[in-house]
Amino acid sequence: MKLLVTGGAGYIGGVVAAQLVEAGHEVTVLDDLSTGHADAVPPGARFVEATITEAADVLPGTDAVFHFAAKSLVGESVERPGLYWAHNLGGTLALLDSMRAAGVGRIVFSSTAATYGEPERHPILETDPTRPTNPYGASKLAVDTALTAFARLYGLAAVSLRYFNVAGAYTAADGRTYRERHTVETHLIPNVLAVARRLRESVGVFGTDYPTPDGTCVRDYIHVADLARAHLLALDACSEGEHRIYNLGNGTGFSVTEVLSVCREVTGHEIPAVVRERRPGDPAVLVASSEKIQRDLGWKPERASIREIVADAWAALPR
Ligand code: UDP
Repeated sequence: MKLLVTGGAGYIGGVVAAQLVEAGHEVTVLDDLSTGHADAVPPGARFVEATITEAADVLPGTDAVFHFAAKSLVGESVERPGLYWAHNLGGTLALLDSMRAAGVGRIVFSSTAATYGEPERHPILETDPTRPTNPYGASKLAVDTALTAFARLYGLAAVSLRYFNVAGAYTAADGRTYRERHTVETHLIPNVLAVARRLRESVGVFGTDYPTPDGTCVRDYIHVADLARAHLLALDACSEGEHRIYNLGNGTGFSVTEVLSVCREVTGHEIPAVVRERRPGDPAVLVASSEKIQRDLGWKPERASIREIVADAWAALPR
């Protein structure tokens, strides 16, 4: 199939683009390189450097769009909400308009656990209330809502995948490795591994007084290769006039302290940690139920162990 991957020069988009190329699809990556890296685009894909509001030229003849391009820093979204509404919602609406004009009727959208906000129970089901606690989550939820309406009104075939904590690295069949390398790194595992690489002296632990067994936040970590594979299944599941929403996680939570100790084991580095204030807007626990995608699409995580996730992330880093 002829596929467009927006944000395909980013961490997750790059892995999905690589898996699509490996599966024999004709892939075009559209990315403005605001946060992505041109060398993260897989060699077999065509690369167009442009924003999602400029997608009209590349859309004709496309069978489906994988939409990753977005602003994704929670803290920044609180400081600059307008930027998040403009890019994530405004940009996506422009993309959806261009898709309609070009007769492209399928989309797989990169949604997030942040659409749920502070959950009332665990694991989180897709039917649970969505009450985002920051503009990032709110803007992603608004896109999900728009997709539901566009499916009903215009027959769009849409799947939203709500990611929990994505980590690890992917090595493609050609030996190329795709890893997380954000200029502004907020995520736990890369920050911890940066200490093991001696790029930082210590890592901050944001809060040790949460109502969790060891007082630190609990998250559901999913391997980027497993996450990416779900996108290929979602493409096959897209059905006209239907918008499906699926959670993507492993269904098991690990605390910040547990992740730290796995990182210490994997790297053999002592990794000093310093207790810091809670990070505003961090829910105590976020764990997914992925039963729906397992049941409907037959998705199954193959690299669910936190050790393997950390080990793959570590092995992919330059040292
Ligand atoms: N965290 C931390 N130190 C860091 C980065 C993150 O203690 O340097 C904590 C953060 O407060 C959260 C968990 O690790 O409880 C996962 O954070 P991350 O930013 O990786 O993902 P999020 O759950 O916010 O999407």
